[in-house]
Amino acid sequence: MSLMDTIQRWFGGTKPTSTTTAPRADQPASSTGAEAPTQNQNKAGGSSMSIHIHPAVDDGVRPGRDDFSGGTLRCQCSDRPVEVTVDAQCAHNHVCGCTKCWKPEGALFSMVAVVPRDKLRVTANEDKLQVVDSSAVIQRHACRECGVHMYGRIENTDHPFHGLDFIHPELSRDEGWAAPEFAAFVSSIIESGTKPEEMEGVRNRLRELGLTPYDCLSPPLMDAIATHTAKAKGVL
Ligand SMILES: [Zn+2]
Ligand SMILES: [Zn+2]
Repeated sequence: MSLMDTIQRWFGGTKPTSTTTAPRADQPASSTGAEAPTQNQNKAGGSSMSIHIHPAVDDGVRPGRDDFSGGTLRCQCSDRPVEVTVDAQCAHNHVCGCTKCWKPEGALFSMVAVVPRDKLRVTANEDKLQVVDSSAVIQRHACRECGVHMYGRIENTDHPFHGLDFIHPELSRDEGWAAPEFAAFVSSIIESGTKPEEMEGVRNRLRELGLTPYDCLSPPLMDAIATHTAKAKGVL
């Protein structure tokens, strides 16, 4: 079985590129502190500034805080919002172009990170949550009123990312979440309506923000998946 077949099997969906991403959280998010925050580059002409990657990064990527230890996520309902409490810093934060992740209005990408599942709990209005697609490998628990995805969970214990929940850190007003580090499934935004000829501009803008664009996951995460596969096959 090829790696792409494996990814497709793990994540579900019709093609590997239309699935969401899932880093492992066994490494703390400390790598985010290693690089300087990307500056907002208001270049003359500024055409790249009109590309709305995601509201949380469009003005430049803000660094996370090393001493940050979690916060509260809320959906967009003004009445009885669903509340999820996370008692950990997130890891592998990134922007994602897949068609499955929840994106804010007008954004080309979602912003998604992982946290250990035992550090996440629903603390208010859980009755409003429902699973978006129960056949998907990642069970995305969304508010059925506002549609926001509160967390995604993998129940398959053989999955390389089992034990991690996916969150959208932007749903929290707490400041200090680890900054996004890269862009995943960039080509997939074409599936959401971006014209192919606009892709060069999108990739340039991502690089400008310090979010290296990948059309699958980042190399360390692809290596993690391949390592899991190799161990399962007895190759490693
Ligand atoms: Zn995604
Ligand atoms: Zn809601």
